[in-house]
Amino acid sequence: MTANNRKNSPKLDLQWQILIGILLGIGCGLLFGHFQKTGLHSGFFLGAQRTFQFGGDLFLRLLRMVIIPLVFSSVFMAVVNLGNVRKLGSIGLHTLLYYTATTALAVLTGLVLVNIIHPGFGIDPAVLEQLSIRKEIPQAVSAMEVGKKSVFFIILETFLGMVPDNIASAFAEGNVLQVIFFALVTAVVAGSLGGVTEPLTGVVSAIDRIMQKTVELIMRIAPVCIFFLVASLTMDLGLPALAALARYAVTVLLGLTIHACISLPLLVFIATRKNPLPLAKAAMPALLTAWSTASSAATLPLTMECCRERAKLSDRISSFVVTLGATINMDGTALYESVAVIFIAELLGIALTLPMQLVIFFTATLAAVGAAAIPGAGLVTMAIVLSAVGMPLEGIGLILVIDRLLDQFRTTVNVWGDITAAAVVERLEHG
Ligand code: ASP
Repeated sequence: MTANNRKNSPKLDLQWQILIGILLGIGCGLLFGHFQKTGLHSGFFLGAQRTFQFGGDLFLRLLRMVIIPLVFSSVFMAVVNLGNVRKLGSIGLHTLLYYTATTALAVLTGLVLVNIIHPGFGIDPAVLEQLSIRKEIPQAVSAMEVGKKSVFFIILETFLGMVPDNIASAFAEGNVLQVIFFALVTAVVAGSLGGVTEPLTGVVSAIDRIMQKTVELIMRIAPVCIFFLVASLTMDLGLPALAALARYAVTVLLGLTIHACISLPLLVFIATRKNPLPLAKAAMPALLTAWSTASSAATLPLTMECCRERAKLSDRISSFVVTLGATINMDGTALYESVAVIFIAELLGIALTLPMQLVIFFTATLAAVGAAAIPGAGLVTMAIVLSAVGMPLEGIGLILVIDRLLDQFRTTVNVWGDITAAAVVERLEHG
């Protein structure tokens, strides 16, 4: 939504519309879920659930539709517009250093909190059994065989995995990191060739504009679609399980709150000398969408739009920073993984020494980089952390039940981390 549109329209600002969609979705989901369990009018409630799912899926599909062309064209244009490779190197270095620092800070926050609260002490394992908490681990985790790899090889593989061996499949599979790599290389080469590449640059620039406009249109239906998405999720949620794992959930949520409301705003303030609140307000539609979709990738089009149109951050810098950040900068995921691993250790009665906690610190930071920007990805890469300290992967089964809910919050922090990074890096670049 542009500033002009907002001025002329008497409608509520987008963030309020989305918030109302979320609240109505939760209310409707809880109510319908309750009546569904009574067994009365089951056909009606099943139909309602399918309709909610349909609306939510439609939204996610629309967002996924624009991700790859948007990522390619915006990173390509950002690099071409920078004009020189040295500038790109400087932004890249600042971005990577900042991302590493904030992720490490997030893990540290999680580790300190979990060591103070000890959420895994005092939970009766029989209670977990009674709640029929599923013990099986997701397929992807067992398939990873992470236990057999050293941390060094995990790092090497992460880097190697960024280089596409087939561009068509990188685009077709929606591999954002590979698409970024390809866009960076081609844009740098196009810039060095000069005039002959102008026709292509014109085309990519037009695609970039078209994609931005498409995101604007998708944002108009976001509140209704988010209502459907949240209602369908809430109908599935089991509150009793949540109660049993409440102390763990509270520890994660407290850590996320500290990181999102204190650490990151403080860094923005130190770097920009500006009140971080307007930035948070500008970021709101992206943050609420991140909460509803639990996917940084699906939120990326809105994240870019919020940086460009609402926060008025530099197009070139924010395109580069948030696109890269969506896949490699996951403060929320890193924090959650460190808390979850120690919680599982406490439940299983495994004592973790200081050196083991140091290993958790490094591997959780790394695992968050490796996590895909989709729902549940952090749960899968947690296998890296568990196996690094010799813990059984089955431990993941203990926290599956409330993972989706925590995923929504950690994804919000992941996206907030990217947006604040765009503001900080812009300041570092422009001085
Ligand atoms: N869902 C998160 C994201 O997209 C990743 C995770 O599972 O932690 O950012």
